[in-house]
Amino acid sequence: MSVISNNLQVVRESILVAAHTSHVMCPIKLLAVSKTFGADAVIAAALAGQQAFGENYVQEAVQKIASVRTVRPDLALEWHFIGPIQSNKTRLIAENFDWVQSLSSEKIARRLAEQRPSHLPPMNVCLQINIDGSDSKSGLASNQALELARVIATLPNLRLRGLMAIPDACDDEQARRVPFRQMRQLFDQLFNQLSQELSEPITFDTLSMGMSGDMQAAIAEGATMVRIGSAIFGQRDYGNKQ
Ligand SMILES: *Cc1c(COP(=O)(O)O)cnc(C)c1O
Repeated sequence: MSVISNNLQVVRESILVAAHTSHVMCPIKLLAVSKTFGADAVIAAALAGQQAFGENYVQEAVQKIASVRTVRPDLALEWHFIGPIQSNKTRLIAENFDWVQSLSSEKIARRLAEQRPSHLPPMNVCLQINIDGSDSKSGLASNQALELARVIATLPNLRLRGLMAIPDACDDEQARRVPFRQMRQLFDQLFNQLSQELSEPITFDTLSMGMSGDMQAAIAEGATMVRIGSAIFGQRDYGNKQ
C-alpha cells in the first residue's frame, strides 16, 4: 500500500472513531487538502477512493486540475477552493471548481455568480466565518453571515451549502472546542432562519471545520466536513508560496 493510501485509511478510521465517540450519526465528509502537492499525489489518493480535494492557490490548483484530467480523464473528482479569494481570480475559480468554501464578501459572490459558465452546475458555496474575531484573519463576522446568505440566495449559479471556519490552533482540549461549538450554534440558527424565509427548499447542510490537528474537537461539536492535508499527504513544503 502506498503511504498516501495508508494515511487515508488511518484518517478515515479516526473520523469514524471520533464520530462514534461523540455519538454523531451522520456521515462526515472528508476533504483531502492537496495544496503544495502534485497531480501524482492527488491521483494516488483518488485511486485509494478519495473523491473531494481542497486547494488554496488558484494558479497551482488550475494547473493541477488540468494535469489530473489529462492523465486520468476517468477520475471524476470534486474540487473545493478553500483559500483567500482575490477578485481578479474569480473567473478561474468559477470555471474550475465545484465548491468555494472561503466566500466572505458580496462582491466576490456576485462575480462568481456572473462568471460561472452556464454548462456547469451551480457553484456550491460556504461562507467563511472569522469565529475568533481576530483582525488578521479572513472571513465574515458571525453577525454578518445572515445578510450575505440572503444575498446569495437571490443570485443565479450559486448554491449556498453552509459555513466554514479555521479557528486558531489551541493546546487545551476543552478550549479548542469552544469556537467549533459557536460555529455549530451559528449554523443551526442560520439554517432555521433561512428555512423560514426562503420559499425554495434549502440545501444548507455543510459545516466545514476541523483540520489534521483539531479534527476530533470539530467532529465532537458537529462538523459535517473535515479538511485534512498533512495527515494524508505529509508535511507541506511551501517553497516560495508564503
Ligand atoms: C491547509 C488547510 C487545511 C489542511 O490543513 P492540515 O493541517 O494540513 O490538515 C484545511 N483547511 C484550510 C482552509 C487550509 O488552508
